Amino acid sequence: MIQFTINGKDVTGAEGATILEVARAHNIDIPTFCHHEALAPWSACRLCLVEVTENGRSRLVTSCSFQAKNGIVVVTENKTIRAIRKMIIELLLARCPNAQAVRAMADKLGVTEPRFTIENEFCILCGMCVRVCREVVGAQAITFAHRGSKKRVVSPFFKHSGDCIGCGACVFVCPTQCITMNDVQDAADQYADGAELTGYSRVMNNWRTRLPLKLCKTCGNPIAPEFQLQVLAQKVGLKPEALDVCQTCKE
Ligand code: SF4
Ligand code: SF4
Repeated sequence: MIQFTINGKDVTGAEGATILEVARAHNIDIPTFCHHEALAPWSACRLCLVEVTENGRSRLVTSCSFQAKNGIVVVTENKTIRAIRKMIIELLLARCPNAQAVRAMADKLGVTEPRFTIENEFCILCGMCVRVCREVVGAQAITFAHRGSKKRVVSPFFKHSGDCIGCGACVFVCPTQCITMNDVQDAADQYADGAELTGYSRVMNNWRTRLPLKLCKTCGNPIAPEFQLQVLAQKVGLKPEALDVCQTCKE
């Protein structure tokens, strides 16, 4: 175990734990926008900056990625940290003024009206969708394109992603809820990309990807994207026919 202080309070954490992990375990709030416990640290949003004093020297570090050490002194909020966080959220509020999560964070940090040019984006470029797809799902179906103010999360070549399994993990982690998916009845199809349609599809709207849904062999209702079930069966060593029947019909 390691021992150090956060805001003057003695805390302990496991070897290798980050400052953020230890702070959360002790109910000490540090704001973040790009951190998820299931994902590797990314240090993109910089909201989680804290001041660390070690051997008499102080510096600002991102608490999501900085491993806590014995004897360090951590301060999660002071005048400098507040000013940096306010600038970050002001920029995000100008970019995404209608994203509820951004508005809530701006309120919390005391920012109301941004001084910068207002845009109408919803994506804060936190990268959680790209990372969950790569690190947890193992699909690598989406990525960042362009740089600077033109940076976007996209499917390869802005077209149907042949690697997307339609699992919805990216929808789940997106803090601004700007990724959407729908299960729809097939009609004129612009994204199927030659796939054999079953009558129902899952549409990943942001990724221009449409995946035919497998229908339950017993009741005929849609179960999940066929591709997702194939990948799952392969990963866990099931025969494909083991996933032919929906949960309701199995019970
Ligand atoms: S739905 Fe597609 S893009 Fe989203 S996490 Fe799953 S595989 Fe990746
Ligand atoms: S789409 Fe959502 S999860 Fe992906 S980078 Fe943008 S805000 Fe983050």
